[in-house]
Amino acid sequence: SSLPSSSAPPISAPPPATPAVYVSVNRSGVVQSSRLSLPILSEEHSIIAAVKENPVVIICGETGSGKTTQVPQFLYESGHTLLGAESGKRSIIGITEPRRVAAVSMATRVGYEMDLPSSQVSYQIRYEGTVSQKTEIKFMTDGVLLKEIEKDFLLSNYSVLIIDEAHERSVYSDILIGLLSRIVPLRNKSERPLKLIIMSATLRVKDFTENHVLFPTPPPVVKVESRQFPVTVHFNRVTPLNYVLAAYRKVCKIHSSLPGGHILVFLTGRQEILQLVKKLEATFPSSSLRPPGTREEEEEEYKDLCLENRDKLGERERRKDSYVNLDDYPILSEDVLANDSSCSDHSDSDSNEEAEFISVSNSNQPLVVLPLYSTLEPEEQAKVFGSDVMAVSSRVCIVATNVAETSITIPNVKYVVDTGKVKRKYYDSVTGVSTLKVDWVSKASANQRAGRAGRTEPGHCYRLYSSAVFQNNFIEFSEPDVTQQPVDGLVLQMKAMNIIKVINFPFPTPPSKEALKAAEDLLVHLGAIDSERLAITSVGRTMASLPVSPSFAKMISLSHQNGCLPYMVILVSALSVREIFQNEIDKKWTIKGEGRLLGDLMVLLGAVQGYERALNRNEYCKMRGLRIKAMDEIRKLRRQLTNTINGISGKGDLSLDPNLALPTSEQVKVLRQLVLAGSPNKVARKIDTSRMNVEEKKKYHYGYECQLTDSPVYLPSSSSLCLSSPLPQFVVFQELHETTRLYMRNVSVIEAEWLPWLLPARCVFSDPLEDPLPTFNTSSGRVYCHMKYSFGSWQLGVQSFPY
Ligand code: ADP
Ligand code: MG
Repeated sequence: SSLPSSSAPPISAPPPATPAVYVSVNRSGVVQSSRLSLPILSEEHSIIAAVKENPVVIICGETGSGKTTQVPQFLYESGHTLLGAESGKRSIIGITEPRRVAAVSMATRVGYEMDLPSSQVSYQIRYEGTVSQKTEIKFMTDGVLLKEIEKDFLLSNYSVLIIDEAHERSVYSDILIGLLSRIVPLRNKSERPLKLIIMSATLRVKDFTENHVLFPTPPPVVKVESRQFPVTVHFNRVTPLNYVLAAYRKVCKIHSSLPGGHILVFLTGRQEILQLVKKLEATFPSSSLRPPGTREEEEEEYKDLCLENRDKLGERERRKDSYVNLDDYPILSEDVLANDSSCSDHSDSDSNEEAEFISVSNSNQPLVVLPLYSTLEPEEQAKVFGSDVMAVSSRVCIVATNVAETSITIPNVKYVVDTGKVKRKYYDSVTGVSTLKVDWVSKASANQRAGRAGRTEPGHCYRLYSSAVFQNNFIEFSEPDVTQQPVDGLVLQMKAMNIIKVINFPFPTPPSKEALKAAEDLLVHLGAIDSERLAITSVGRTMASLPVSPSFAKMISLSHQNGCLPYMVILVSALSVREIFQNEIDKKWTIKGEGRLLGDLMVLLGAVQGYERALNRNEYCKMRGLRIKAMDEIRKLRRQLTNTINGISGKGDLSLDPNLALPTSEQVKVLRQLVLAGSPNKVARKIDTSRMNVEEKKKYHYGYECQLTDSPVYLPSSSSLCLSSPLPQFVVFQELHETTRLYMRNVSVIEAEWLPWLLPARCVFSDPLEDPLPTFNTSSGRVYCHMKYSFGSWQLGVQSFPY
């Protein structure tokens, strides 16, 4: 790292007794001159004055204008870390970032600019940090600050909090703003006031300024004028199906035919990024920053690439009309960039590309290729900012997720290659299950991405989609995450912070009342909050401390019985990873034996355990049709969950033993019961076909009814339960998936008798007095009474309960 670790902190003298306290900073000449070119420097005085006079201030400025690196320095120099120093209290300037990578890199950069060690300008992300007793400026992820509020509601260690990247409207930063809107007035009644600064890369801040529930007095907005060079935007004529391959070709073309300048490519996730990086490294000699992939690895990657894109084809087919090429004439996208942006048409017929591809493969101009995504190892991330690589190499190609869209400024980018894609979370209001889907970004995001090319000189942005697709299929702005996600996890977390009436919480954009109510219903059924839907229960507290959805957390928190915990951790990890099998349809054959007749979860468990025990894991995956990468992912999740659980229990007795014995039949039964306990509204009952005619019998053979939907749900042919005859009467599923019909996924067999025991909150019981008298059971010595019960709208019969 570039931090001078041994330099002495420059503030040794106590603050002078004059009202205005200033702290001096030793900046190098290089740093000082590069700072002076930042647009935000001319706003220093107005920012400090606004903060002095107002409890809440909003700062808007284009990405790269200097908000994240400079505002903490302005505050530091104007004495904000000294507030309350007499009382012996530390006063930290805190900055929250939605992404870990930004928290780490910004702390490093600001430390370097100020010539202060990482113990003073520190970061804290979930599992690691450099925070010390001396910390004065602290970058952290928004989740970290949220946890701190749980422990110290008044955040008494801080004098200023900056919520950075507020335009992204991440759920956590929205909640932080809501919470801080209440904390700031409380602190301002005390000796040590707290200031709140909201920073945004766009001017769209009316959700903060015009929301009187949030801020009764609208906070002032300081605007930073941006300096931007013109960027020429080129649309593709056609929208390619395989955007990773299209990006590869575009980079090849730029590198071989256009003048120097770094390239920034936007993709959607780690896997795609690594594929493209490998492929580029194999094509071009690099300055050997990393050894090029071996041939087998490359082939493996290429297969993956094909596989992934084949999977995506289905969705594309459905949306075929959006791929019809309407643009023989390029359309100028308005407000892409200031000044004289122009737009040229870039012909990209596939046959041309193929020819170029071949000629480029022979090119031997060096190209340094660097990946950039949130979970990247810090040393790898550092290369992107390391002045050595970026300055020495004539051409660097950075392949990034939308982390490079606004939160990180990469120096000297001249060409942007935009696939127009982003991985977005979708929330299915029917099932309550969220899925990650690759989708188009918003127009606002696409324009932000284009803007990355014009920071230091005029640049070019190549959009790998047609202007018709841009005009017709891109939404204007993304909706705030809070309206796009299931809120059960969020509501549970808020209850854990003793925010009882979630409906009254000052969200910048509130989730719908229905969504909040559905979340509270689920939490009541899970026993995480009391039946008045107010306070959190002790089970709820345990659940809130686990980094998985409340349903999964419930399953885990009950799993101490019968030694089920290690199995449940495997199951929850496996359920959190998508597409474990090469071919879904074959998965029911993955494990042998009767276990699979109890459901798909037993198949999952068997597959993971088999993989762990296998002498040759790759061979095992091949034989059983498992995806190696998915199994690897499960392993990581399992390790993370195991560490968290050991941390909570304080015992550290949960292990990752690869030779974990197979579960006993009793354990398998308990596991199915626990899964049911965590899935209160995902129970389905076989449709009675006995009185149907032949045709209907056939139609409804695999049909079930469930209380979430009016239409029947079906057992998919990939489910191991299709092997059993007769089909089970009652099942619990994890997800509903809609294709030609509504299909259940990850289905397990359950017994109707378990419902009143495991999901009492969803059952209605008859008055025992109406029924026959209590009976005495001689073998157990207990008295039982018989009660009728129903589950939701299903009358289920009579069962005996202890009297
Ligand atoms: P904003 O938050 O407004 O997007 P930043 O404060 O992140 O802007 O960045 C301001 C400028 O600081 C950038 O234009 C870039 O030139 C420079 N910068 C930021 N981080 C680094 C770094 N790690 N190395 C070199 N320059 C950097
Ligand atoms: Mg920033």
